[in-house]
Amino acid sequence: MSVDEQKIPQATAKRLPLYYRFLKNLSSSGKLRVSSSELSEAVKVDSATIRRDFSYFGALGKKGYGYNVNYLLTFFRKTLDQDEVTKVMLIGVGNLGTALLNYNFLKNDNTRVELAFDVDPNKIGTKISGVPIYDLKDLKKHVTNDVSVAILTVPAQTAQTVADELVETGVNGILNFTPARLTVPDDVRIHHIDLAVELQSLIYFLKNYPLEK
Ligand code: ATP
Repeated sequence: MSVDEQKIPQATAKRLPLYYRFLKNLSSSGKLRVSSSELSEAVKVDSATIRRDFSYFGALGKKGYGYNVNYLLTFFRKTLDQDEVTKVMLIGVGNLGTALLNYNFLKNDNTRVELAFDVDPNKIGTKISGVPIYDLKDLKKHVTNDVSVAILTVPAQTAQTVADELVETGVNGILNFTPARLTVPDDVRIHHIDLAVELQSLIYFLKNYPLEK
C-alpha cells in the first residue's frame, strides 16, 4: 500500500479504532461493502468527515457502491498494528482497575493487559481474570521492554510519582484514568480519561444545549 501513514492527521487517527471495530463487525456478518452514510449512522461521525478520513487511507468510495470492507480492514489492521499484540500493564488494582482487568479489552483481540501492579499486600500475589498482580516496587523486575503502555488507575495523589517510575521503566504511553494532570518528558504520550469530568460535561451539555428532536 502506498499510503504514507505519517500523513494521517491526528484527529483522523483517533477515529481509526472506531471505524475498525465497526468494519470488523460488518465483515463478520458477511458484508462486502459499506456506504459513507451507513458508516456515519453507525459511528456517529458525519459522512463528509468519513469521506475525508478515508481518502487519507487511499480508500476512494465509488458512487452507488460505497467502500470495499476488506480493503479498509486490511488497511486498518496494518495501520493499527493489529497483526501484533500490544502488551499493556495496569497500575492500581482498585475498583476501576479491577473492572478494567475483568474487561480486558476482549473486543479488541490485539491489546491485552498482561500484568498489573499495586502496593496493597492483600492484592499482591493474586490474579484477576488471569492477570497477575505484582508489587509496584518490583516494577523493573517484571516489566520487559515489550510492555511500553500503561493504564493508570491509582489514587490521584500518587499518580505523578507512579508516572515518574513508569517513565523510568521505559513506558512511552500512559492511559491516565486519574484526575491528576501529569508531567512527563516530551517523548511520552499521555491520553487522559477523567470519567467524572466526562459525566459532568454530558450533564452540562444536556442542560444547556438540549438536542432537538
Ligand atoms: P479500593 O476500594 O479497592 O481501594 P479504589 O479505586 O476506591 O479501590 P483507590 O484509593 O483509588 O481505591 O486506589 C486504587 C488502587 O491503587 C488500590 O488498589 C490501591 O491499593 C492502589 N494504590 C495506591 N497507591 C498506589 C501506588 N503508589 N502504586 C500502585 N498502586 C497504588
